[in-house]
Amino acid sequence: MRHIAIIGSGPAGYYTAEAAQKHFGDDVRVDIFDLMPVPYGLIRTGVAPDHQSIKGVSRRYEKTALTENVRFVGNVAVGRDITIAQLQELYDAVVLATGAPEDRELGIPGEDLANAFGSAAFVGWYNGHPKFAELNPDLSGSTAVVIGMGNVALDVARMLSKTDCEFEGSDIVSHALEALCQSKIERIVLLGRRGPHQIMMTPKELGELAHLECAAPHVAQGDLPDEAEDALLEPGLRKSVTILRQFAATPEHIRAEKRIAIEFAFFAQPKALLGDGKVEAIEIEHTELVKGRAVGTGETARLPADLVISCIGYRTTPIPGVPFDQRAGRFANDEGRILPGLYCVGWAKRGPSGTIGTNKPDGFTVIDKIAEDIASGTLGSAGKKGRAGFDAYAAEKGLDVVTFKDWKKIEEAEAKAAREGAPREKFVDIEAMIKAAN
Ligand code: NAP
Repeated sequence: MRHIAIIGSGPAGYYTAEAAQKHFGDDVRVDIFDLMPVPYGLIRTGVAPDHQSIKGVSRRYEKTALTENVRFVGNVAVGRDITIAQLQELYDAVVLATGAPEDRELGIPGEDLANAFGSAAFVGWYNGHPKFAELNPDLSGSTAVVIGMGNVALDVARMLSKTDCEFEGSDIVSHALEALCQSKIERIVLLGRRGPHQIMMTPKELGELAHLECAAPHVAQGDLPDEAEDALLEPGLRKSVTILRQFAATPEHIRAEKRIAIEFAFFAQPKALLGDGKVEAIEIEHTELVKGRAVGTGETARLPADLVISCIGYRTTPIPGVPFDQRAGRFANDEGRILPGLYCVGWAKRGPSGTIGTNKPDGFTVIDKIAEDIASGTLGSAGKKGRAGFDAYAAEKGLDVVTFKDWKKIEEAEAKAAREGAPREKFVDIEAMIKAAN
């Protein structure tokens, strides 16, 4: 019997567990640890609340979770409750699937001003992440600037634009729904440091902006490159650029029918956030592309900004003693191998890119590496204590472990508390989750 500990119960964690089952069959026991009492990581707190069909993938993870050889071990923080070294004593392999939960910083003056947030915080707020439930963004101003031209920037712009009715069927938490319904924002500027041909937005997500009840996307014709140049783009990006062209072709009087404008501002990089305690404006510098990179032209401008949300990517949280690549913001690894017996998958391995499905091959690859390392003797012979060893440790330390069965009780309580038409009303604090589990 071999024992694997996976740290993090998001997509990367569950695909790894599924791969372990498929590879080792009954000869493996997998414990999936999470510091939250609830599973599924970004599926719960990252994926936009109005994208319920994407969240449906958790049913696949549940299938894995309900098998004999996989166990959810919630409410256990690695680092606080147990160290990596202790886990390595108990398990043959430890796989870090901890994602990239921290915001990358802009590194510009004024970043700490009130009402300027990173996307991890803002997305966490509307998705009910306990760490950000009290964020309380001020939505009483008229202009929001969203920095970045990726799918997270789109999620944020969409959330800031939707009406009460458009949130029907979503699992947006009540505190955010109430605040967003009172929002006075009527101008959302999406700020890109490069041009339309360099956006990171995928067509389906970008296209959603055309179907909002009270908001319309604004793209200036003059910002678009010559259409013939689109032919050189890879097909997905070409589709996105075609959508930008459709936005630009929409007559002004049609756009003006919508109360909220979502403006695309290209070739503009943030230089400073300005304000007296609270953000009031953003200073930008115009850019031009030099060998694909944004280079400042020296020409600056000031945009009013009552709210700033920077959606420029994420970083993995370092763990003491685990080699870390500071520049890339993830664990230093060679195809998922960090140190003998210690591995990583998903965003913790490759940084914050790709779709949920990208984590599937990641999980299968790391299990292949573990199998190779078992075969070569790197992981020593079988005989580690695994689950039984952890249970003894948890009992001795008095850890309040939340099991998958407990999670099902939390899930049931959240479903019961749901608004009409919504799948759930999430608990936004850990104590309430644990209370529901008990
Ligand atoms: P992303 O796709 O990497 O986009 C980040 C954006 O931030 C880019 O436009 C980038 O511009 C810009 N940026 C980076 N540093 C900057 C700086 N210092 N100043 C100004 N702009 C800066 O990241 P993301 O939007 O956070 O998404 C992360 C991953 O999750 C992606 O793979 C995304 O597709 C996925 N996701 C998918 C969905 C969905 O499918 N529905 C939803 C959300 C997220 P440059 O290109 O110039 O660097």
